[in-house]
Amino acid sequence: MIASDLRSGVERLGDMIAEARTIVPFTGAGISTECGIPDFRSPGGIWTRHRPIPFDEFVASRAARDEAWRRRFAMEPTFAAAKPGRGHRALASLYRVGKVPAVITQNIDNLHQASGFAPDHVVELHGNTTYARCIGCGQTYQLDWAKRCFDEAGGAPDCMSCGEPVKTATISFGQAMPEDAMQRATELSQHCDLFIAIGSSLVVWPAAGFPTMAKSSGARLVIVNREPTDQDDIADLVIRHDIGETLGPFVGN
Ligand code: NAD
Repeated sequence: MIASDLRSGVERLGDMIAEARTIVPFTGAGISTECGIPDFRSPGGIWTRHRPIPFDEFVASRAARDEAWRRRFAMEPTFAAAKPGRGHRALASLYRVGKVPAVITQNIDNLHQASGFAPDHVVELHGNTTYARCIGCGQTYQLDWAKRCFDEAGGAPDCMSCGEPVKTATISFGQAMPEDAMQRATELSQHCDLFIAIGSSLVVWPAAGFPTMAKSSGARLVIVNREPTDQDDIADLVIRHDIGETLGPFVGN
């Protein structure tokens, strides 16, 4: 059912939240646009300006790695300045009162952790861009270190332990999904009674499979996104409005 207007959508969502015992939110880039971080696919989104760099290209080409790091450093003022928005804060409120065991996110911006979720309760399907990791041995690095290396060597950093390339700790197209996060997201999706997909175009797979998985495991499905998605047909409630306005009323003390 598509909510006829914002008010009736918020009311119905409030009822569903009250009736639910275990709520699993699933978030995409749209929850962070009000925090100043552009999404990928909206007009003005990141992909209207840059072609994504697939993982095999990052591994094979130093020029691609240099470009990936240049783009990341160019985004740093945006990521560093971003604070949790109303959507993040509403989910953190539901987490604090014990209704939400964990959030599944496609986002890489660390804003769920910043809003009050314990890091263990943020299931990151696509990693985290606020630190870096060696693609060979997995050693983690701070971004400051990567920036210093980049400035001194004039290009992308390599691991101090094994010499392999260092990349932001994100999952690029063509890169294997993190097994642990996929497993935890599966369990959460199968064991909730309300699943709320927020700010995702639901076109990136396998992440986009979780709303359907939750629905077919018996949960009610709510989709909050200002544009239609391919899964609206199976949702119990679709709210096609701004996320901050929709979830703002659920921000607690
Ligand atoms: P997407 O860009 O494909 O879709 C975002 C959706 O959110 C769009 O359908 C858009 O209409 C909607 N939206 C944007 N702002 C909104 C608002 N204020 N209210 C309501 N709806 C809004 O993003 P996605 O589905 O998350 O998938 C793509 C990939 O983007 C993910 O893998 C993620 O890693 C990556 N990404 C993350 C960030 C971030 O961490 N903040 C930013 C850009 C991209």
